[in-house]
Amino acid sequence: MPVEYLYEVNTYPSCLAYIYALVDPSSMHARYVGMTENPVVRYNQHHSNATKKLYEKEEKQLYSWFKDVLDNGMRPKMVILAEVALEKAKISERHFIGLLRTSGEPIFNRNKTIFEMQAIAKLYDAECLSIEYLSSIKSLRWQCRSKHGFSLSAARILRGEWCPTCSKQSATKSSQKVKEIYESNRVQLQQQFPSAFSLY
Ligand SMILES: [Zn+2]
Repeated sequence: MPVEYLYEVNTYPSCLAYIYALVDPSSMHARYVGMTENPVVRYNQHHSNATKKLYEKEEKQLYSWFKDVLDNGMRPKMVILAEVALEKAKISERHFIGLLRTSGEPIFNRNKTIFEMQAIAKLYDAECLSIEYLSSIKSLRWQCRSKHGFSLSAARILRGEWCPTCSKQSATKSSQKVKEIYESNRVQLQQQFPSAFSLY
């Protein structure tokens, strides 16, 4: 006799990933940026890491904060910053880490900022040639997809500035598209973290 059931579970692998932030419920500041294919499962992992002390040494700050929030009778919030294709998730995660950190959000993600800059450059099909990141306002060397070299600080890049030579020429379709993607993420972020954007 065929089995009786409520409904069938979708077992096909998803090709979507979510870039999320863990947010402090009191201050509404982001404390961590991550990526996952399943936000609820990932949240539960964070939760048990915090309560069962299952974490690496370098994650101690994050999970002490997480545990403090729980001990105060609240739960860290999880918000989705973007939905992206799985293969773009790593780059997108680094992009958002860089974006939030440069906006002054107190996130615990380890400092890999030059890698974040390289991830941002990839969004533009370009390269960040600098090997060291000193601060958001120090100039970095970039090379756009048309091989123009130029210098711009991370703060200016994150405000949407790009290659001055290309900007003078009429905007190509693809650079227009990158701008559109960037702007749609930016609107989302601005709604979620208005305080971060007041710095600009
Ligand atoms: Zn250019």
